Amino acid sequence: MIAYSIQDIAHITQSSYSGNQSAPITSIYIDSRTIIANPTTLFIALPGIKYNGHTFIEDLYQKGIRNFWVQNNESYPIFDDAQYIISHNVLQAFQKLMAHYRSQFCIPIVGITGSNGKTIIKEWLYYITKHTESVVRSPRSYNSQIGVPLSLLLLDTHHTLGIFEAGISEPNEMHNLQTMIQPTIGIFTNIGDAHQEHFTDNDQKVFEKMKLFSSVSKLVYCKDYDIINKHALNLSKATLLAWSFKDTTSDIFVTYTLHKNKTNISIHYFSQTHSFEIPYTEKASIENAIHCCVTALTLNIPLPFLSYFNDIPQVAMRLEQKSGKNNCTIINDSYNSDLQSVTVALQFLSQQNQHPNKTLIISDLKQTSTNKKELYLHIASLIATHGVSKCIGIGTDVQTYLKPHILHGIFYNKTNDFLAAYPTLHFNNEAILLKAAREFEFEKIAKKLEFQTHQTVLEINLNAIIYNLQYFRSYLQADTKIMVMVKAFSYGSGSYEIANILQNNKVDYLAVAFTDEGIELRNAGITVPILVMNPESGMMQQIFEHSLEPSIHNTAALQEFAVYCESHTESIYPLHIKIDTGMARYGFAPDQIPQLIEQLQTIPNSRIVSVFSHLVGSDDSAFDTYTEQQISTFVQSSSLICSYYSYPIMRHILNSAGIERFSSHQFEMVRLGIGLYGVSAQHEQNCMHISTLKTFISEIRTMPAGTTVGYSRKGSLQRPSKIGVLPIGYADGLNRKLSNGVGTVIVNNTEVPIIGNICMDATMIDITDTDAEIGDEVILFGKELPITRMAEKLDTIPYEIITSVSRRVKRLYYYE
Ligand SMILES: *Cc1c(COP(=O)(O)O)cnc(C)c1O
Repeated sequence: MIAYSIQDIAHITQSSYSGNQSAPITSIYIDSRTIIANPTTLFIALPGIKYNGHTFIEDLYQKGIRNFWVQNNESYPIFDDAQYIISHNVLQAFQKLMAHYRSQFCIPIVGITGSNGKTIIKEWLYYITKHTESVVRSPRSYNSQIGVPLSLLLLDTHHTLGIFEAGISEPNEMHNLQTMIQPTIGIFTNIGDAHQEHFTDNDQKVFEKMKLFSSVSKLVYCKDYDIINKHALNLSKATLLAWSFKDTTSDIFVTYTLHKNKTNISIHYFSQTHSFEIPYTEKASIENAIHCCVTALTLNIPLPFLSYFNDIPQVAMRLEQKSGKNNCTIINDSYNSDLQSVTVALQFLSQQNQHPNKTLIISDLKQTSTNKKELYLHIASLIATHGVSKCIGIGTDVQTYLKPHILHGIFYNKTNDFLAAYPTLHFNNEAILLKAAREFEFEKIAKKLEFQTHQTVLEINLNAIIYNLQYFRSYLQADTKIMVMVKAFSYGSGSYEIANILQNNKVDYLAVAFTDEGIELRNAGITVPILVMNPESGMMQQIFEHSLEPSIHNTAALQEFAVYCESHTESIYPLHIKIDTGMARYGFAPDQIPQLIEQLQTIPNSRIVSVFSHLVGSDDSAFDTYTEQQISTFVQSSSLICSYYSYPIMRHILNSAGIERFSSHQFEMVRLGIGLYGVSAQHEQNCMHISTLKTFISEIRTMPAGTTVGYSRKGSLQRPSKIGVLPIGYADGLNRKLSNGVGTVIVNNTEVPIIGNICMDATMIDITDTDAEIGDEVILFGKELPITRMAEKLDTIPYEIITSVSRRVKRLYYYE
């Protein structure tokens, strides 16, 4: 960024300040974990709900930070040799500063908004313009009230084009983003149902989003979306670059032809025709490419850009975590290789404590403008602060600039040199992060470290998990604690992989069903308190040795707990009491409570951490009266218990549906389960899908009419058919009741039926009406084929579907 002085910042944002007024600021951070101590670094203390930046100031001062931006109603330590900028509202003041910063640049700035595709369009546009422009763009999906000002910080004097995305979830947010981004060219991607809950309808949503374009000179959009067209016509100043698939009289008319793995697109653009090819076939990708092409044409990007669409990188934008050979965890971040993404990936690596060692394999960074010496010094300090135990560098820049700062590093000139040395490197029981610029082709390294990739996988979207967590948190008071249920392999989605994310996102408690599940998490380095809901007989020793906390739900368990405490008087042992208010499963009946308390009082080295109960029908309004009764029984019983103790005891009864539907009864804690994994009791749209079960076509056979497919001759063919064989069966958790056309799958965007009986390890599908080939991807469930639909077909609940995917199916975790 271009430097500002403390006084400049205070002046621009109408804030006050203390300390040296002319102290220069050249970098700004809001995340205390990634900050690099430097005399010209400014830390912004944002008062969030779960983390308050002001509480990190003491720590950061010790690390050497001397400039702090604080809010006047917060408390923070005051150091004599530090500068403070003091604002009424720090976030708003930061936004004001970034609006000022932006206005110093006279380059075209593309602003992108809409329901879907913002990040992809931003990346593709970057990809096709970077050959002729010096482009700055939002990192990842930084499009929020905080993400946008952070993105603008990247703007620098040598840039010739800026591309920024803007996303909103509530009315009245866009004006703020417009003031900061001040786009000169707009792209309105499309409109769909995401973030519906805060808007009355799509009309209001488009109206609000259109505010981003209040002063653009040109707006790119597809006029086949009537609502977008209607609102665009109200923009008086802008030239509308409205393209269409339907209206042949439009100034920009588009046709396309679909092929197997690619699409040919022709854009008739003001009497000229431009044709190009993209390596995708879905409608969304075609629209995204057209938006990019029209924008590039209006920016006068030299025409060869059309050919760049051809090799637009595939899954460019995610960080993936898989289990690798020799008990390693492989984290492969193919997103891009700028400093921001290195920081994010190293943070992710540092959360992995399931192995004794953490390894980084890094190449030269190519997409960055910072001075190389400074850049690699910065990276060296990130490596030091993120617990990396082994660093391997590949490339000439890392050799020159990074190697001098790394004590026991191993360095190579080229990826091939590394591959040649691979047999001598002996990776074992470590978490390995691969971070490289594309030309270093780290996929070759990944191939060595990972198991064969073409197989049945359950893909888990970690962003969606965090999104769902935040969604349920939005129902909670600031001081209500949250316990997350990670029983049953986190409802089928993983063990430490999920717990790491939850720990990093500061959940207060985890809960498992059985002791072994808790021990597994402790062995993987999870330190959050863990409740064991059904401690098995004979496990007290194991529980306390692993710092787990038992739920005591009957007299037998209480007896075991008492015996343990009596023979280990040197410590105080925590317990949680479960009360049965109507589930009739585990828990003390309300009338057993006086006796329970009497017994507990004979165990002086025990401490009740919480009292809880479980609702049987909080998701269904038909049971609301029953739910209210359960809650009132719980209030009575828990008050009775609490009245005997002078220390505070937490109370909790709400599960996921309870949080959404009975949030006034959140007491001191709630227990989030299925909601985290993507199922909302209120509205399907409230949560994001987290998992996709995928496989591929391993074999295709053509069969004449009258023959049959599979066991017991159930799949009889009425017509000459093309049958695809999938390497997944009921042993993988694909329910056999989905046989014979009950279940469907998606192949190349087409839904096709399962034919015949599902076998133990294989399933056949009817692909007669598709041009599917061997190797094509097949989706069993996911965003396009929701588990709720599969659950209905099987007359069961989503819980059963997601927990049934067997552990032999590889899990792949990713961040976008
Ligand atoms: C599984 C479980 C939950 C979570 O329920 P969801 O409906 O998945 O939110 C909460 N409490 C107890 C005791 C549970 O066993």
